[in-house]
Amino acid sequence: MDAVGHEITAPLLVRVRKSRGGAGAHRQPFVLDVSLEFPAGITILFGPSGAGKSTLLDCIAGLLRPDTGSISVGKESLFDSAAAVDIPVHQRRIGYVFQSLALFPHLTVEENIGYGIADLPAAGKQQRIDEILSAFRVAELRRRKPSEISGGEAQRVELARSLVTDPRVLLLDEPMTGLDDDLKAHIIEDLRAWRTARNIPILYVTHSKSEARALGDHCVHMHSGTTVLETPQLSPGPSAGF
Ligand code: ADP
Repeated sequence: MDAVGHEITAPLLVRVRKSRGGAGAHRQPFVLDVSLEFPAGITILFGPSGAGKSTLLDCIAGLLRPDTGSISVGKESLFDSAAAVDIPVHQRRIGYVFQSLALFPHLTVEENIGYGIADLPAAGKQQRIDEILSAFRVAELRRRKPSEISGGEAQRVELARSLVTDPRVLLLDEPMTGLDDDLKAHIIEDLRAWRTARNIPILYVTHSKSEARALGDHCVHMHSGTTVLETPQLSPGPSAGF
């Protein structure tokens, strides 16, 4: 525990190399080559389109296999090419929220959230679902289907669904694209509260400087597959927040 009672969370260490594409006459080969440590808190990943942000998140989640390198959370190795370790996606305990929403259309909000923790005993499961429904302010929507809620509400349900599994790392790839500023501000507030309570490494890809300022504890700038700048904290500036 730290001074304010948070559990000290293991940092995420990523040292990987991954090449992609390059086939065909005009395709330039792309190489992701990074060595990064992500502490607890929110790290903003900035960089132009094609910089390798999604490739990095996919490697961490286990959706892509790096050519070489290692990925670990504290002492636990998730991937290590030298030791032939490659923990499958579903055993990594990593939450991943994409830009496009992926709620199951035939399930209610509550069922969508419960899906990832179906194996828990019923009592504990319901408590976890109730907690997360209220943390992300979607409790009143619990019986609705995804087609009966707004885009902003669906984003909250997505976040709730990935966090109910109690991940040790959370990956967010432009999770608020297309939402208006008011909705973003509310979701950011909820995420910050969650980040304070759980203290896990959260990687957040965004092109929005205001989102970055409102959320980021740390910032990593990527370009052409490598990191060009790492800053401990984004300066607040006059237009911080929403
Ligand atoms: P970003 O998320 O920063 O926009 P990406 O990680 O999506 O960047 O892309 C990095 C590079 O990998 C780009 O050159 C892109 O063309 C290439 N790439 C992305 N997806 C694939 C794929 N499925 N197959 C081959 N190359 C890909």
